[in-house]
Amino acid sequence: MAERFSRRGLFKLSLAVGASSVVATNDTSDGPNLAEAVSRLIAKRQAVEEEVSATLFLEHPFQESVSREAQGFVEEAPVTQGQSPQGALDQGPGPENSDATFPNNNSKIERPKWDEATLRNPVRRIIIDQPLVGLTIDDGYLVPDETLDLLIEKKTSATFFMLGSNLQRNPYFVLKALDARYEFGNHTFSHRLLTTLGNSDVEREIKRTEEVLGQIAPGVTTQPFFRPPGGVYDSRVIETVAKLGFRSILWNVSGDAGSMTAEQLNGHYLSLVDAAKPSPWGSIILTHFQPKTLRLLSTVIDGLRKRGIEPVSLSRLFNASG
Ligand SMILES: [Zn+2]
Repeated sequence: MAERFSRRGLFKLSLAVGASSVVATNDTSDGPNLAEAVSRLIAKRQAVEEEVSATLFLEHPFQESVSREAQGFVEEAPVTQGQSPQGALDQGPGPENSDATFPNNNSKIERPKWDEATLRNPVRRIIIDQPLVGLTIDDGYLVPDETLDLLIEKKTSATFFMLGSNLQRNPYFVLKALDARYEFGNHTFSHRLLTTLGNSDVEREIKRTEEVLGQIAPGVTTQPFFRPPGGVYDSRVIETVAKLGFRSILWNVSGDAGSMTAEQLNGHYLSLVDAAKPSPWGSIILTHFQPKTLRLLSTVIDGLRKRGIEPVSLSRLFNASG
């Protein structure tokens, strides 16, 4: 994805923050390519996230072609007569994705079935007696393909809290991820702070993401995993999402949303895991789809494995809690 965006072209990016907005274009000092400008704006956006809801607008000649192209992909999926694109997937894992390749094979793992009370109980980490931590990757604006390729290469499963709007932009990524047995959680459609929305808008944000995923891969759901944007929620939000069959999954280890460099973050993540109480096992790690995290993920995965800890998907983690 980033490579497609690095092609030079006139573009304007604007970040609306409340009533004001910040604009970047590539024909000023914002540098040669779009990917850099996007990551800077997203870093800015994440920094201001707690204060006000922000929306990122991309005005770029590729926008139209990207979505048209992505749309084209779905239609061109090798679908046998009468079969949905998902049908093309259910022809079983490709040769390179045999069970041996993926010890934490998500498709064999049932998603947790939680009762009403549990759905209303947000969770930051769990207590388990197995050396596992949950690896979660959020948002999905940048480098989704590269991140997926890295995880496949490292034989590491994870749960993707990709925004509905980014699922829509990346149907190829979604199909490839599902084919490699990765799972998706719900992080709303447009990353708006849910405490600032009415119940019907909260529901709409979640349902739209489910709809988009179902359009790309019929039968696939984000339930029961939900993550509130910015980690911001209140009892009304928890109640509303629980009614839709979702539990709010937060985290106890994070750090890449701030201004720390990839190098600084390497030690940061592993030291937080080491310090997690009562044990590192059962921790939930938050990261984001972005170039900086792409550089750090490999080191963190290796560091965890050196500690005898395996990073896994939320389904795998919650199944370990018995
Ligand atoms: Zn997010």
